Amino acid sequence: SGPEVAQLVASRVLDVPDFPQPGVMFKDLMPLFADGDVFRQVIDGIIAYHGRDSFDAVAGIEARGFVLAAAIAYASGVGVVPVRKAGKLPRATHAASYALEYGEATLEVHQDAFTAGRRVLVVDDVLATGGTAEATLDLVERAGGTVAGFTVLLELGFLKGRERLAPRPIHALLTV
Ligand code: AMP
Repeated sequence: SGPEVAQLVASRVLDVPDFPQPGVMFKDLMPLFADGDVFRQVIDGIIAYHGRDSFDAVAGIEARGFVLAAAIAYASGVGVVPVRKAGKLPRATHAASYALEYGEATLEVHQDAFTAGRRVLVVDDVLATGGTAEATLDLVERAGGTVAGFTVLLELGFLKGRERLAPRPIHALLTV
């Protein structure tokens, strides 16, 4: 159930202060990925929340989103599409740039990643300001997909990513 999965996430996240730069509290979910029982319960919980028949593909955001997307896709019998950092994909892409605290980041997806109308579940580990998610949801739509849902393991509520993405619904297993 929801509260049980939230508790699992809470029990498998490590707070790392001042990474990758001073002032940032990095939420390290490697312990969750590394615990086979917990990982399976989390993946099954995400699929159950959305409904196995509500999506036709899963898109994961580089790099930790890949781990989640591949597991969800495999367990659901659908394919996985990577949303990658600039310069990694070999063929024609759509690109979306967004502001970081210092500078800019760009994400890309192959232009032919989705057949038209494909319902795409998007996943990542952490929602912070929402810039990454906003760019990704935009890319899925520009590549012909329909966003079926967006799930993160952990939402940093004080950064207001959910408000930035509104009115699109965000599913977070745990909000802190
Ligand atoms: P944002 O675009 O600000 O929502 O940042 C979300 C992206 O950056 C996700 O791909 C996260 O993996 C990563 N991220 C941002 N802040 C953190 C944090 N405090 N701990 C772990 N990952 C983070």
